[in-house]
Amino acid sequence: MKYLIIADIHSNLEAFEAVLEDAQNHGGFGHTWCLGDVVGYGPDPVACIKLLKQLDPVCVCGNHDSAAVGKIDVGDFSSEAARANRWTAGQLSAEDREFLSGLPDLLVEDDFTIVHGSPRQPVWEYISHSFTAADNFRYFATRFCLVGHTHVPFLFEHDGAEVSGSVLRDGDVLVMGDNRLIINPGSVGQPRDREPRASYLIFDADEMMLRNYRVTYDVTATQEKMERADLPDFLVSRIAWGI
Ligand code: ZN
Repeated sequence: MKYLIIADIHSNLEAFEAVLEDAQNHGGFGHTWCLGDVVGYGPDPVACIKLLKQLDPVCVCGNHDSAAVGKIDVGDFSSEAARANRWTAGQLSAEDREFLSGLPDLLVEDDFTIVHGSPRQPVWEYISHSFTAADNFRYFATRFCLVGHTHVPFLFEHDGAEVSGSVLRDGDVLVMGDNRLIINPGSVGQPRDREPRASYLIFDADEMMLRNYRVTYDVTATQEKMERADLPDFLVSRIAWGI
């Protein structure tokens, strides 16, 4: 069985559609695990929720999802993120709000703990460094943990003594052995590793293999929609740079 692992779609429909098409071209998938931040920043929150629901996903809640339905305050957001989040909240139907409100902070599926930020603080904490990862290995009981939130595809590996980290790049294949792992698939809709292509993972449960893929999408089309929605200029430009 193959699993599509995605995070931080951020209302970017062009990127999301490109990921689904690319995943089909690479052998398809039977299940979808989504690590939160379905909405926020981008111009298509409603269409992205609709498309995601069609995949019948296992999905947890991100900070932008929580903020869009008023579960958390945007006071801790950057001014651009807060402005985009208020715009997003105004687009959502009652059904969309119900979907986002119902997303849990943490899920366990087989050998995987699934969160947006970290197992210690599922909605807010960023795991960007090995020392943060090392602390977090104590906060989940499964072999593997999937996280998003940083928008950078990354792998932290615990060999029983030490934690090491490495960036995941397009085409990287990981054969999962005995080591415990914290795995970040990168972002579909707003990558931040100076690489604008949408990022995702495919997990092959039969082979116990993970593979990272990057796919180009029509960034200009997304940017034009953002400009028409009067979303902040920095958010419009950053998706072209992957920052
Ligand atoms: Zn995010």
